[in-house]
Amino acid sequence: MKKKFAVIGYGGMGSWHVNHALKSDVLELCGIWDIDIKKRDLAKSRGIYAYGSLEELLNDKSVELITIAIPNDVHLEVVLACLNAGKNVICEKPVALSSGDLEKMIECANKNGKIFTVHQNRRWDVDYLAIQGLADSGEIGKPIRIESRIHGSRGIPSDWRGTKAQGGGMILDWGIHLIDQLMLVYKDEVIDTINCTVTNITNKEVDDGFYLTITFKSGAVAFVEVGTYNFIPLPRFYMKAENGTAIIEDWQKKTKVAKCKHWHESEVIPVQTAAGLTKTMAPRDSITMDEYEVDIPKSDVHDFYRNIVKAIDGESTQIVTHDQMRLDMKIMEYAFKSAELNQTVKFEY
Ligand code: NAD
Repeated sequence: MKKKFAVIGYGGMGSWHVNHALKSDVLELCGIWDIDIKKRDLAKSRGIYAYGSLEELLNDKSVELITIAIPNDVHLEVVLACLNAGKNVICEKPVALSSGDLEKMIECANKNGKIFTVHQNRRWDVDYLAIQGLADSGEIGKPIRIESRIHGSRGIPSDWRGTKAQGGGMILDWGIHLIDQLMLVYKDEVIDTINCTVTNITNKEVDDGFYLTITFKSGAVAFVEVGTYNFIPLPRFYMKAENGTAIIEDWQKKTKVAKCKHWHESEVIPVQTAAGLTKTMAPRDSITMDEYEVDIPKSDVHDFYRNIVKAIDGESTQIVTHDQMRLDMKIMEYAFKSAELNQTVKFEY
């Protein structure tokens, strides 16, 4: 049977949830609540019930699940209110602004015996799934370095995302997705150090981009870069592994893989450049290297909601776990610390 659910916050992401959750076949929308009357009127004009207050929504016994899609600084109070009202809760990312706040949420969920998770929808992005699949398959060996980049050129949005008090900035906005993805690819690795540099080109108050290096005890590296001032974007993913290299140029593009067949070459034809020649940097040919493309994986983001409904019914465990939420939050905190100190910091967790 479908679960009755409601959405708090009917802005950009709230309306996405209304549209997409319904397509998951497991939810029935009871209505939305937004503090802004214009948003409530907009919902009504679309035939959606708008609650007159948060209390009215929380007192609606038929609602089992609430998705919270409001600015980051108000997640804590609304998450706690919903859990204490006996609702299961999905909160938008970044779930909290500190590990301390996250612990309060988890404690409250446990106390009330409710499902509480965060919407890490980018686990269903096909570019990430392709890299994860390639790493898991071992086809080109263990990843040594994965670079994950999102480059735009429109600066940071001029809404609440541009203010520190409301939890703005690109580490919290985009970093959380990219960190979450890479920590799943490197799921067996243990973090050693974190180094992060932030940029403030279009916004002085919060980071409008950053460079984050996560070094694991094994020596493997996860590199995350977000830029909002990149008029020519670099590729979405670049992965160096023990036996090959993979690249994904853009969100929906196929993965290009170059797999080494034989390490040693008997004959190398030197490359002539304008001012010299090089054997070291001479490209390989098909005798020692295979080049191919990997098909785009199948993905359905509605599986996120399908999982939560099963978790509520006790038929499955939640995909985005509390421990994963804790780790992602800690990494962001260490990234801020490294940027502030302008040095690499030892990761303790
Ligand atoms: P938005 O500004 O478009 O919408 C936020 C809405 O929340 C507004 O309509 C506002 O009136 C309402 N609101 C503010 N405080 C409220 C409160 N206390 N109670 C009820 N309503 C309140 O913002 P957005 O882009 O929709 O972002 C909302 C959340 O979703 C943020 O946490 C953001 O990080 C997240 N988000 C996630 C993704 C994703 O892909 N997972 C994408 C975009 C945004």
